[in-house]
Amino acid sequence: MNDVILLSHGNGGLSTKKLIEDIILKHLGERGEKELYDAAVINMEGRYAFSTDSFVISPIFFNGGDIGKLAVDGTCNDLGVMGARPLYLSLSFIIEEGFKLSDFERVVKSIKEAADENNVSIVTGDTKVVEKGKGDGIFINTAGIGIITDRRDWRDRKIKEGDLVLVSGTMGDHGTSIMLQRLGIDTTEEVRSDVAPSGLLGVELLDRFSGIKFMRDPTRGGLATVLNEVAEMYSVGIEIDEERVPVKGWVKEATEVLGIEPYYIANEGKIVVIADKQEAEDILSYMHSHPLGKDAAIIGEVTKGKRVYLRTKIGTKRILDFLKKDLLPRIC
Ligand code: MG
Repeated sequence: MNDVILLSHGNGGLSTKKLIEDIILKHLGERGEKELYDAAVINMEGRYAFSTDSFVISPIFFNGGDIGKLAVDGTCNDLGVMGARPLYLSLSFIIEEGFKLSDFERVVKSIKEAADENNVSIVTGDTKVVEKGKGDGIFINTAGIGIITDRRDWRDRKIKEGDLVLVSGTMGDHGTSIMLQRLGIDTTEEVRSDVAPSGLLGVELLDRFSGIKFMRDPTRGGLATVLNEVAEMYSVGIEIDEERVPVKGWVKEATEVLGIEPYYIANEGKIVVIADKQEAEDILSYMHSHPLGKDAAIIGEVTKGKRVYLRTKIGTKRILDFLKKDLLPRIC
């Protein structure tokens, strides 16, 4: 029984202390605080972005990543697309009684690797345990603080007709791979989540290109949701070309069989950018030179009107609306 999480690991007493020391601090020590107080104390001056996200993905370990990597990359990516370089992260676990300690350690190790990649410090955290049957293995919440510079803050730039829409890579990898794994379909090596610290690419781009007017990570709801949010927020139309949206072969096949479109499926390692026409080609070249932007593409442009349209391969044009039906829950 000693190799699983017990209710006592969450009671705030000796077992909790031991769990924190033996697993959490053992791996995250370098990335976290040496002294444990009730709160992290941070000196700050300047402009910051602050974001939080909870992670309830099932399965916890999946092709291409796990809930730990997702919890760090997910929050850091939200900071990155806002032009914020991640500095501090909080980390909270809700663990179900009976969860294997070895799995917990695997998740914590993965968190350490992801925190290193994002160069973010984990400065505060919490661990709670719920009774068996009252949770599902492990849930994680992270909150992150990142610093913005004036140059990287794109919020006041005006999106106008003729601006171009770019994506940093293929659409639909994460959600499709999770669906396939959940359906128990024997998946090959290439079927994997794209979870990655794409916010880092975002920050690099915003440092270099002042013509970037919008950036968001197309997670839940996918590309179509992001584009509809832009159309609504800025009262513009957007048209994209089916043929120019990069989609991996296995995603295309699986989504056709499942009857869903890759534009609505979650990504965890991609960014959508809207940029001035003059700079779009240079932004694309920079993305192509970056390990997280190899499959980047210009997929469409901002137009008059207020809807998002997809120009299909056969030359027709149809509305690409907000997601109406429920796709699989718990993909992040
Ligand atoms: Mg986001």
